[in-house]
Order: sequence, then structure tokens, then C-alpha cells
Amino acid sequence: AQPVLAVVGRPNVGKSTLVNRILGRREAVVQDVPGVTRDRVAYDAYWGGRKFTLVDTGGWEPDATGLQAAVAAQAELAMQTADAVLLVIDATVGATATDEAVARVLRRSKKPVLLAANKVDDDRLLADTASLWSLGLGEPHPVSALHGRSSGDLLDAILKAL
Ligand code: GDP
Ligand code: MG
Repeated sequence: AQPVLAVVGRPNVGKSTLVNRILGRREAVVQDVPGVTRDRVAYDAYWGGRKFTLVDTGGWEPDATGLQAAVAAQAELAMQTADAVLLVIDATVGATATDEAVARVLRRSKKPVLLAANKVDDDRLLADTASLWSLGLGEPHPVSALHGRSSGDLLDAILKAL
């Protein structure tokens, strides 16, 4: 079976946009309204001559268990079912308490975890992304899913991990 990469993170950080960027087509639903991706959706992705399964996550119920618990549960599930996990952070916001809680869950993973700092649309945010080393998940990869900036570098890192 082909390797599975699960994409996790808070609503609205750009997970689905990044998934579409990796797919090279617009399949994952992108919305300005947080929490619009209803279910975990799996797609076939290709990069560098390799094929892998890309799982977009979302669909939290904001008032059921609380956002933090819901995102952490998704991360836990991703850790159990995927071969590697990609945590997406919104670099324009920085690491929130929810991001830190998810990072805490993912640090226990025996599987590879990659960290993407999304929405780095221009150089101004590059310096700030270094602060994301504090999440304890290794090197933050700055990307702009919207413009495609540095997404090739992130994909190369993903392939190394898978
Ligand atoms: P998700 O909830 O994490 O799946 O986030 P979405 O992919 O649905 O994106 C949420 C919002 O962030 C949308 O308005 C996107 O257009 C926007 N967005 C996603 N990636 C970027 C990016 O790299 N730069 C900027 N400026 N906005 C982005
Ligand atoms: Mg989404």
C-alpha cells in the first residue's frame, strides 16, 4: 500500500489550500469560514515520481468538545492511521495555545512529523517562523499554499519522511 500523509492543524490555517497545492488541482474544499472541511478526505498525490495518500482533516464541532480537544483528537487519530503527519500553522498568527497542545500530542509520535508555517506570502514573515522551533517538532518549513512559494521544498521533506 502507498504511504499516507495526514494534514492536521487548526481551522483556517490553510490545510485544504495546501492539499490542493500538493495535488496540483482544486479538490479539497477551501473556505473563508473556519471548519468547513466536513470529513477526513483522502486523495492520491504524486511527487518526485512517488505516489502517496494525502488526508485532509477538519470538520470540528466548535462547541462539542471545544476546539482544542477536537484538533488534538484529530492529531491523535492522524498519528495512529498515517505514516507521517504534517502540522500546519498560520505564520501570520504564530503558535497559539491550540497549536501547542497539538504539538504536545505529536511530539509523542514515533512516526515522522513535519511542520509547515503557512501564509508566508512574502519575506516579511520569514524571520518570525524561526520562533516555531519552540514547538519541538524540528524545522519549520515556511510556505505559501496560496501562491505556491516553497511548497516544492516542503514536498521534498515530506518524501524523505515517507
Ligand atoms: P483549512 O480550514 O485549514 O483547511 O483552511 P483553508 O485551506 O480552507 O483556508 C482558509 C483561508 O486561508 C482561505 O481564505 C485561504 O484562501 C486562506 N489561505 C490559505 N493558504 C494561504 C496562504 O498561503 N496565504 C494566505 N494569505 N492565505 C491563505
Ligand atoms: Mg479544510
